[in-house]
Amino acid sequence: MSGSVIMRTGHEVVDGKIIHNDQAMSWEEADKRAGFRLDRRKSWAFIPNKHDLGIPELCEMISFTRACSGCEDSESMYPSAVGAGCHECGYTGKSRETCFVPFCRPERIRKAWRATFADDFHGIGELISAPTASKARYQKFLSADCDAVTFASIRVTRSPDDDIILPAVDAITAALDEEAKSVLNHTLINKRFYTATDDKAICSLVQAGLLENTGRGWNTGESYFVLTDAGHTAAVSLRPIYPAYPEYRA
Ligand SMILES: [Zn+2]
Repeated sequence: MSGSVIMRTGHEVVDGKIIHNDQAMSWEEADKRAGFRLDRRKSWAFIPNKHDLGIPELCEMISFTRACSGCEDSESMYPSAVGAGCHECGYTGKSRETCFVPFCRPERIRKAWRATFADDFHGIGELISAPTASKARYQKFLSADCDAVTFASIRVTRSPDDDIILPAVDAITAALDEEAKSVLNHTLINKRFYTATDDKAICSLVQAGLLENTGRGWNTGESYFVLTDAGHTAAVSLRPIYPAYPEYRA
């Protein structure tokens, strides 16, 4: 199934039915607004969130099956999964529904810890990123420039307000081949990537909306390429959560 993306600008009520004012958007515009590359196979919408100053919120279409409203037993306190069957549902007792729900992008959390020395009652301590309390304590132990410091004298507490949220790898990024992933990583680190404009890996990344040709090069047929916003998100999603502990992926 091929997807679509719309911007919902409002709605009107016609004959007691809600008619949404939806405007088609280009994928490029939608990617820019979302900050990452939207999955082209899904249906998306930007819908103003009335709880958040009416700022359009990214929603994805979900579909589900429920009991047909024409033949469901409405006497029951608990709605049943299937109705008795009627002409409305073609005697299946079920109907297929779709609706837009706010999209929750999968993310990874880089945990923050506050490390203090047990005899320091006033200091606020030091913020450390680590996957576990013991690793945070060990990091503090290594950075202490005093021989008298013992492992047991370091107190470590979680500081969730200081956590850093990183994007998780999405289906499109995961499907890239190793060469393309490596190009993304190098472009993230060096801020740009210089190569031939007909390079196969580069062309596929440009087509995917993850890289952009700056049009500047030293020779004809060569150019500097930079990450788009979507490409930046994709590249960050491929990095380990803790550079010091690459084995922690989630
Ligand atoms: Zn029915």
